[in-house]
Amino acid sequence: MVHAATHTGTTTLALPVISGAQLLPWAVFGGLLLVLMLYFVGAEQGATSLIQGREVHEFVHDARHLLGFPCH
Ligand SMILES: [Zn+2]
Repeated sequence: MVHAATHTGTTTLALPVISGAQLLPWAVFGGLLLVLMLYFVGAEQGATSLIQGREVHEFVHDARHLLGFPCH
């Protein structure tokens, strides 16, 4: 016996509309995070170091070399 599909309901998907003005603070926030990350990758060493020890520097060391920042 073949059971025919009886589900015929349709589903409408409403996509949210996000304006540029709504997006702007998040874009600024994301940009600040990226700049902060770039600081830790590129300048967290020696005289410009904010955090004691070498853990942060060692953690981002590969990214530092990948992006071509001077290191050692
Ligand atoms: Zn290095």
